[in-house]
Order: sequence, then structure tokens, then C-alpha cells
Amino acid sequence: MARIAVGGFQHETNTFAPQRATWADFERADAWPGFVRGAELIDAVEGFNLPIAGAVKTLAGLGHELVPLCWCSAPPSSYGERDAYEKVAGWILDDLAAGGPLDGIYLDLHGAMVAEHHEDGEGELLRRIRALVGDRIPIVTSLDYHTNLTPEMVRYASAMIGYRTYPHIDMAATGSRAAQLLDRLLKDRRPLYKAYRQIDFLIPLVWQCTLMEPAKGIFALIEDIERGSDKSGAPGGSHNQGIVSITHTPGFPPADIAQCGAALVVYGHDRGAAEAAADRLAAAIREREAGFAGKLYTPDEAVIEAMRLAQGTTKPVLLADVQDNPGAGGTSDTVGLLRALIARRAKGAVIGMIVDPAAAEAATAAGEGALLDCGIGAKIGYAGEVPVEAQWRVVRLGSGMFTGSGPMYGGAKFRIGPMALVTDEASGVSVVLAAKRIQAVDQEIFRHVGVEPAQVPILALKSTVHFRGHFQPIAETILCVQSPGAHVTDPAELPYRHLRPGIRLRPLGPVHE
Ligand SMILES: [Zn+2]
Repeated sequence: MARIAVGGFQHETNTFAPQRATWADFERADAWPGFVRGAELIDAVEGFNLPIAGAVKTLAGLGHELVPLCWCSAPPSSYGERDAYEKVAGWILDDLAAGGPLDGIYLDLHGAMVAEHHEDGEGELLRRIRALVGDRIPIVTSLDYHTNLTPEMVRYASAMIGYRTYPHIDMAATGSRAAQLLDRLLKDRRPLYKAYRQIDFLIPLVWQCTLMEPAKGIFALIEDIERGSDKSGAPGGSHNQGIVSITHTPGFPPADIAQCGAALVVYGHDRGAAEAAADRLAAAIREREAGFAGKLYTPDEAVIEAMRLAQGTTKPVLLADVQDNPGAGGTSDTVGLLRALIARRAKGAVIGMIVDPAAAEAATAAGEGALLDCGIGAKIGYAGEVPVEAQWRVVRLGSGMFTGSGPMYGGAKFRIGPMALVTDEASGVSVVLAAKRIQAVDQEIFRHVGVEPAQVPILALKSTVHFRGHFQPIAETILCVQSPGAHVTDPAELPYRHLRPGIRLRPLGPVHE
């Protein structure tokens, strides 16, 4: 039995987004728990598809004594405010110092956090922890798929284990894998060699999905190399040779930091084998560069095509509003796609969620059946948009408190209200309004306000990829739409100032100088 400190600090930072992450954003619950510290952490995270939940369960099951630190996350947005970062980092260090003799540390980190005063949020946190606890204690972290994996993170953590799915359905499972690795490091006490590589092109999120090639094949290859069953005959591939674990993070492009982008790290007991496996995997990713591509529609093209397709099927045609994804820093209140649906009179279409606390509260005050006397959406004003004025009838109200049922947010306790379903009387287009920013990735969001997603002819979702986990099985087809949004799909359009020179801004794209 060992004494293991457990905690977490998660933020995915889109440095180009309009809203910053404040302490209040970390403190409050949304679909995930709010800030928790100390003994209450263990119960607070139980049952969520979160890395910390998987790690806690696995470490306790292995008989270890847990020393809870704190855990919190904020919705993806621009920079984490200095005050919020220093508060949380300070508590983690204080609680580690006060936690008595420790044998190991597990941390649930995102990996793409940029603070106002530190561009490598996780690298800086790990540096401080290493300085406090010394080199003897193993520190193992889990990481999001969208980590911008930096040399400092690799240096200061003993090992890091990333998700292997996008949509992320393996979050708790990744925490469990990290816990098992920490247990192994404590038992066998052999030094781990780290082989780190960065990939020299940025990969837009919309083409990072592991349900599709090339990401699907890359992650299959990772599992083959780990198992020692890669039969390609390439160096490092024929048998396992002491490879302990491989993490590949395709990166989070809208982050204006030097170390932005895809990377990988191979952990192994044999230096030569780890280096060879890292070379093999990096080469496999580079070979597939041209494959990270696909069709993007304008809002008008998408609505015309969706209305045509909807006539021949009873299953929903899905429109993914890929740039206004609140899970990547979007405001979830842009209205380009909504306006196109109304203009084409796409009767029966539903778009969700438009995050507009004022309109959701006004709908609640007006009551079901009433007409809303305000426009909806575009309250942040991204891209110069203005709210959509129409004959908005309040069809259904909701508290915003419900439990998710999909592969990603199953078990998550949503607290995003008030919510409302409102319908434009002239066009027959409906909008799901909410008060807090959460990505439209779970069917319960719609059921909560009386919409059965499978029965909607055209369903527009504020999401880039995650929606596929719960919605792809019910869909006729999926069209990806480029409407205004703070998660700009093509990184070549972003005004980077700090990115390292030499990296291509998209697959086969221009080189950043
Ligand atoms: Zn992610």
C-alpha cells in the first residue's frame, strides 16, 4: 500500500476566444462538478466519466491510501486568469506540502491550459510540484486528446497517459490506465526512458476524429506497437522490447504558444526501443498528413443540402456548427447557421444550444405559450453579429438540471439552466436556449425541453466532433458547416504571434515564419 495524492486542474485554452476563464468559471458546476478540495473530492467525482473518477476507483481498488488535493475545471475559453491559476496551483502545492509523507502523485490535467502569465499552464504546475517534492516521487498525469504536449510537461512528469478517443469516451478509462501505470512504477522502481517527438503541422479539430481515418489507423498502430504486434517490419515495430506506454496528443491548434500542435511520447525501459518506436509513430503520422481533410459547407449550402436529404429519410440530417463549439472556446451564441435555417424556412429544424442567459431567463419569466419580446443569440457579439429577432414562441421550459446518458456525458449531472425551447412561428425553426456553455453532445439536452432528437428532420449542433458519440448512430448523414465562431477551423486564418517557426499551419499548409 502506498500513500498517493490525487487532484486535478483542467482548462482547454483557445487564446483567440473572446471570454477568459475566471475563478468563478472554475468554481461552479456545469456538466462536471464544481471546485472541490480535500476529503469531499472522492464522493464528488464518483460516477462521472472523468479521469479523476477512474483513477480514484482504480487506486483505491489496488489498496492504496488516497490523499485528496483539489479538483476543478472551467469551460474551454481564452486565457485562464492569473488569479484563478495561482489560487488553484497554490492549493495543490499547499496540500501536497501538508499531506504528510507521499509515495506518489496522480493529477487529472487537460494539457492545453494557457494562463495569462504562463503559456504552458501544465508545464509550470508540474515544474513547481517537482521542485517541492523532489525527483524521488513518481508523478503520473492523465491528459486530454487535445493536449499541446510540451517538453517541460514531459520533463517534469514521470509519465503521462492521454485519451485515445475523439469523441472522448475513454476519460475515466484513461484515469484508470494512469493509476495502473503509477502503481506499476511504485512496484518495479525501474527508470523509465522518455522518447518525445513533435509533429510539424497543425491538425484542425474537425479532422482529428478517431471514428475516421487517418486518426483511427494511427491509434490502432499505437496499440499494435504497445502490444508488440506491429507487423510492418519497421524499426521498433516487430516486438514490444520493453515499451511501457505510448501517448499521442493531436493537439489543440487555437493556442498561440510556441509548443502548440501534435506530439507524442513513448515510455520504455530500453532507450533504443523507445526512440525507434517514437520514430516509427512520428513517421506514420507524417505519412498520413494529406488525409486530415474533408468537406466544409457554408451555412446556406448546408441548409439547402440538408432540406434536400431530409425529404428522402425519416432519420435526422445533422449540421455540425463546427466553429462555434463551446468545447473549444466558442461562445455557443453565434447565429449564422440559425439565420440560414430561418431564411430557407427549414420547418421542423432544431438548433442547440444557443447560450443566452438573458433570453433563457426572459422565456422562463414569460412562461410556456407566451411570445418572447427579445432577440436571441449573438449577445457576445462575435464577428459583429446581432441577436435574431423573430416571433419566438416559448414552447417548453426546463430547469437545466438533468443527467446525461450518452457515451461521453453519461452520468454527468448537468446544471446549465434555465433552459427553453423556442420556435419561430414564421419559419417553424426551433432553438434550444441555455444559460451556461456546454457542448451539444448528449441527447438528454434536447429531451430535457421536449425534443426527441431522432424525430427531428434537421438537427443543428454546436459541436465539432464530440456530438458524433451520441448522435451519429441516429443520423442519416452529417454535414460540417463553417459559420462564424471563435473556434476557427483553419489555423492558417489565425493571427499567431508566439508559434514556433517552421510548423505548417494546417496539413500541407503554409509554413509559419
Ligand atoms: Zn479534448
